[in-house]
Amino acid sequence: PQERLQIAISGQAGAQRAFDEAVKFTKDRKAFRQTVFDFQNTRFTLANLKAKLQAGWAHLDWCTARHLQGELTAAEASAAKLFHTELQWEVCDAALQLHGGAGYMNEYPIARLWRDARVQRIYGGTSEIMKEVVARSL
Ligand SMILES: Cc1cc2nc3c(=O)[nH]c(=O)nc-3n(C[C@H](O)[C@H](O)[C@H](O)COP(=O)(O)OP(=O)(O)OC[C@H]3O[C@@H](n4cnc5c(N)ncnc54)[C@H](O)[C@@H]3O)c2cc1C
Repeated sequence: PQERLQIAISGQAGAQRAFDEAVKFTKDRKAFRQTVFDFQNTRFTLANLKAKLQAGWAHLDWCTARHLQGELTAAEASAAKLFHTELQWEVCDAALQLHGGAGYMNEYPIARLWRDARVQRIYGGTSEIMKEVVARSL
């Protein structure tokens, strides 16, 4: 459980950083005489991600408190790893998309954040195995 919680925390942190990079970039980048941030699609995408990140931080507080009490179960830790690494992938991919072509270039932090997010759904047990562990506990 501790290893999976640690990966979940790094997933949430990576997602938050990617989100912050997307906000910064879209407020700076101009297209069609306005900033990319001003497009409704950008604002709605970021608002959706913000809501998920907010819920994610609260969930990690709950997991950490349970772990400190020695009560975090294997199924709960697996659910946390599944949720936060899949969220990391969703946020990083959306944040890269908002960067346009710049997102694919190593000069921008989002390229590395996106690449590093991919393996999080594999090591420490794949997302499919996390689902197996959770399903067995039902
Ligand atoms: C960068 C990196 C660092 C790593 N570090 C460590 C480490 O420090 N210590 C360590 O022990 N391991 C480490 N690993 C190994 C990692 O834990 C395994 O790669 C991971 O658990 C997946 O196992 P596998 O590669 O054998 O894939 P496989 O088990 O061959 O899986 C292949 C595919 O089949 C799916 N699959 C397998 N079984 C099932 C099933 N029952 N139901 C549904 N789908 C299934 C998987 O989800 C996956 O999509 C590391 C891997 C990487 C990439």
